[in-house]
Amino acid sequence: MAESKPTISFHDFTSCEGCQLQVLNCEDELLDILGAVDIVEFREAIDDKADSYDVAFIEGAFTRESDRKRLETIRSKAGIVVALGACACTGGLNVLKNFRGLEKSMKTVYGDSADWYETSQALPVEAAIKVDYKVHGCPIPRQEFLEVVTSLLAGRTPRIPDHPVCVECKLRENECLYHKSQYCMGPLARAGCDAWCPSYGGRCYACRGLISDPNNQAAFDVLEEFGLTIDDVLTEFRLFNGVYDVSQPPTEARVEKQ
Ligand code: SF4
Ligand code: SF4
Ligand code: SF4
Repeated sequence: MAESKPTISFHDFTSCEGCQLQVLNCEDELLDILGAVDIVEFREAIDDKADSYDVAFIEGAFTRESDRKRLETIRSKAGIVVALGACACTGGLNVLKNFRGLEKSMKTVYGDSADWYETSQALPVEAAIKVDYKVHGCPIPRQEFLEVVTSLLAGRTPRIPDHPVCVECKLRENECLYHKSQYCMGPLARAGCDAWCPSYGGRCYACRGLISDPNNQAAFDVLEEFGLTIDDVLTEFRLFNGVYDVSQPPTEARVEKQ
């Protein structure tokens, strides 16, 4: 009798679904993956539903209290849960609404119909359930998704980088943006994107979250050297990492700055 293949599933919460599209964009490797697993739920591609999954990938942030039950159900049916992308790993851009204020955000988006919709603080998936692994980024780098899938299928722990983007940036021999008087979160941001943004002239906003042991003093020294204060950088910090912001609660003045 043929041995059954591991089952994997994809689930989406509050997100743009761009990370699931990155999965579909793994065209060359997807055929190999499909040969090794059964994809039993994936709204972007199939209609099927399953009772259990070996690995469940969850995209999107936890932004409504009613999400909790659905997340718990996925957790109860899954052997391994992987958060897919910044929305799921840190809450991503969705967390900006926490600083703006839920009522104000709802009015901006839905106008007079704001009361029809449910909302709550935007949070990472792990605020509701245990997450075993994270694929970071907005969107996720395809190679990191493939590393996680192939590692889990081989029964080994995926290698997720935990060093700063600056390391990759220097390897690419980019001129540092600080030398052009621009702020960049590279010293605190988790590598693994091959320094995408600085390599194309943009700043790093740490869409891949923060390294687990950031050298805060070195980062503060850099800010001081270039005449920047913590307040100068908070707005950019909150773009993807507002969930880690332990500064004063947002004031109206700061909200207006956003
Ligand atoms: S992390 Fe970015 S690309 Fe991925 S679902 Fe969220 S907003 Fe979209
Ligand atoms: S440009 Fe950004 S990522 Fe690159 S070395 Fe400078 S601070 Fe680091
Ligand atoms: S350089 Fe920074 S913002 Fe750009 S993809 Fe990498 S971690 Fe994200």
